[in-house]
Amino acid sequence: MAKPSSILFDDAIIVTMDPRRRVIEGGSILVEGDSIVDVRGPSARRPKAERRISARGMAVIPGLVDTHLHLAQSLLRGCADDLSLVEWLRQRVWPIQGCFTEEDGRASAELSMLEMIRSGTTSFVGVDVVSRYGFDGIAKSVARAGMRGALAKTIMDSPGYGRKGSIMPDGLVEDKGACVREAKSMVKKWNGIKGGLVRTWLAPRSLGGCSPELYEEVADLAEEQKTRVTMHLAEVKEDVSYAKQNFGMTPFEFIEKVGLAGPGSLFAHMVWLTEGDVRRVAETKANVAHCPSSNLKLASGIPKVPELLGAGANVGLGCDGAPCNNSYDMIREMKIAAVIQKGRLLDPMTMPAMTVLEMATVRGAKSMGMGSEIGSIEVGKKADLVFIDLKKPHLTPFRDLVSNIVYSAMGSDVDTVMVNGRFLLRRGKALTLDEEKVVGEAQRRQDELISRSGVRA
Ligand SMILES: [Zn+2]
Repeated sequence: MAKPSSILFDDAIIVTMDPRRRVIEGGSILVEGDSIVDVRGPSARRPKAERRISARGMAVIPGLVDTHLHLAQSLLRGCADDLSLVEWLRQRVWPIQGCFTEEDGRASAELSMLEMIRSGTTSFVGVDVVSRYGFDGIAKSVARAGMRGALAKTIMDSPGYGRKGSIMPDGLVEDKGACVREAKSMVKKWNGIKGGLVRTWLAPRSLGGCSPELYEEVADLAEEQKTRVTMHLAEVKEDVSYAKQNFGMTPFEFIEKVGLAGPGSLFAHMVWLTEGDVRRVAETKANVAHCPSSNLKLASGIPKVPELLGAGANVGLGCDGAPCNNSYDMIREMKIAAVIQKGRLLDPMTMPAMTVLEMATVRGAKSMGMGSEIGSIEVGKKADLVFIDLKKPHLTPFRDLVSNIVYSAMGSDVDTVMVNGRFLLRRGKALTLDEEKVVGEAQRRQDELISRSGVRA
């Protein structure tokens, strides 16, 4: 079916996330091609459109932005539970991922994206794409699925991770020259294709995975290639002791010294920050990807998110991966982000629903360097829209819709998803991915991976 050039969504409750954070009841949104060209309230006359769709009973929110997730980890769902981070990596995640074929990489990316689309995520930063997962196959699957994805190529020159004895298996270790070469060719080949839907970033490995010289080289390369950088940082206490022992400073101080802290950088977790670090994150305009489920399940700690926001830092949200979350559902993640801080600070007023929704939309968009294109429902922005079916007992009644979305909704309440003016999910049916095939293939591939890796899970 050819895409109509204009669609009017009518009679919706629109959570715009515009600068005034307006919620418009009975409003309409006109989409032309890939963009939003009109947003208006109930009393205004409707603009003309080739197609008119009633959105009565639906909340329309901006497409959610997941700022940190591992596309190649959904095949590991349920394989690595109830372990601490270092054991989790060494005993389960690394051995299984070290057996991936490129087809496993592609199948895992499709499964991750299917779950994201079904639960309202339209844009994501997919981290740690190593060569053995097949960068080309993953990039093609993102283009086919129609999502807005930044794919971050792993860069490393050491098999270690933060603590003595934490050594990756051979299957995941990459040579410095090869990964830098591949990163350059991936940027050239994929950055900005499909009308800008697919982007390529650089992902230097966590402390212990790169030499200080390599981090400096990544900073230069990012500037030269005009691309962005993301990495895991200060996730567990061990990261702090590693940085102290090896560099005599905190993880963030080190990363600032090697030239990686800036508006083009996105750091995941940031659980273990000093007060000085919090200040410097804001001052350097570095972005943070907060992954609350992962931090809780791996018992890494609870990051100082209200303090970071209070200092003026930009913080988005991320689901991380299936072995540590174990889902890619940003709606569920929003609730956890809100409630853990209330519990940590013994303050029910901290992290209100609107703040959390900002993290999942406008702040996430800023983290991707796309604040002027996505993250809110405004004229001139890309048509990335999520329709939530409100006719459910757990969403009824409502007074403050943002509160219901953050505290009561679930990913499965998402009815329809549009990215760049194209429907990826319509009335609960995935249109760009073959759901039966993706789900069936995932189970078969997980069974094969477990037996190949020899892991007992
Ligand atoms: Zn991660």
